[in-house]
Amino acid sequence: MISPRIRGFLAETRTDEPCLVIDLDQVRRNFEAFRHAMPESAVYYAVKANPHPEILRLLANAGSNFDCASVPEIDMALEAGATPERISYGNTIKKERDIARAHERGVCLFAVDSHAEVEKVARAAPGAKIFCRILTDGAGAEWPLSRKFGCDPEMAIDVLELGHRLGLKPTGISFHVGSQQTDPAGWDNTLATAADIFRELDTRGIRLTMVNLGGGFPTRYLKEIPTLERYGQTIYAAIRRFFGNRIPDTIIEPGRGMVGNSGVIRAEVVLVSKKSDDDPLRWVFLDIGKFGGLAETMEEAIRYVIVTERDDDVKMPCVLAGPTCDSADVLYEKTPYDLPASLTAGDEVLIEGAGAYTSTYSSVAFNGFSPLTTYVI
Ligand SMILES: *Cc1c(COP(=O)(O)O)cnc(C)c1O
Repeated sequence: MISPRIRGFLAETRTDEPCLVIDLDQVRRNFEAFRHAMPESAVYYAVKANPHPEILRLLANAGSNFDCASVPEIDMALEAGATPERISYGNTIKKERDIARAHERGVCLFAVDSHAEVEKVARAAPGAKIFCRILTDGAGAEWPLSRKFGCDPEMAIDVLELGHRLGLKPTGISFHVGSQQTDPAGWDNTLATAADIFRELDTRGIRLTMVNLGGGFPTRYLKEIPTLERYGQTIYAAIRRFFGNRIPDTIIEPGRGMVGNSGVIRAEVVLVSKKSDDDPLRWVFLDIGKFGGLAETMEEAIRYVIVTERDDDVKMPCVLAGPTCDSADVLYEKTPYDLPASLTAGDEVLIEGAGAYTSTYSSVAFNGFSPLTTYVI
């Protein structure tokens, strides 16, 4: 669905290069939808999904908190009007001097997933609050996060206990079920584990109070997704089941779910060709590819909805690729993409659901192509 505001803007704005248009009204509606579906959870917007200053300002004014992964992201959130107590330094991999810089700015909530990181936080941000990230299997997610972040539950117990000994305030557990999590029950297993950790730490005299449910809330691409209400109901039911009469405070960190459906990329067909005269597949080359902002087509994980002006014509499968001279710059080949047989060079294409993880992924000038321009309306 492309909003009338975006259609109107595109109709009256000529651009020579691909561009991303963000409809701020949609971001506002998404924020309200999260408040409505998960009213008991504090929202920490994951800044990396789209850090455009106007998005951050809107969310800061609406009452959002911010999940930041670096000092520059913290500065952007502060610049947008957030106070430091509304910021979480959620990256488990931080330089000690960046922890100190965040602490100087007043940030006092830090993610950890190892003994060495706890020691850094204890030195650089004495007395701060910490939460420990635990591993998940990422099942059900279209953009799984692998084993890079989080530790085993047994280790999380030790890590938080170490933090306590070093004068930090262990507050809770975090996890991320994988981005574009299409199963609302994808949180269940890890919530059970988190409840076990709460109970074990109780016996050691450490009382946790918070569960950070992370991101993972999906945006609509080619496949239908469950409603946000279902996510809220399923997750809250699991929390009641596993935590009983000791319901923790919860945080959610939506990135994709907050901004994905607020953005449309306008791009252009550069070439339609075949590899031989009897090749059944056409190759369609756009002026945007993996290095222009569509990095999440890696492994063909995210399948965007692509709209053309010829969608009433008969459609045929094609290989879709970007414009750069890197042979990895192919968007969909293993599973070809159906596009109008009449599509031709110069045609405009609109890529829906492109508000998250596009502008920040676009390279600075690979092959001389400029980074993706964003218009916020
Ligand atoms: C990227 C990230 C998020 C946002 O994830 P989405 O799937 O886009 O909602 C949330 N929390 C952390 C710690 C992240 O790194």
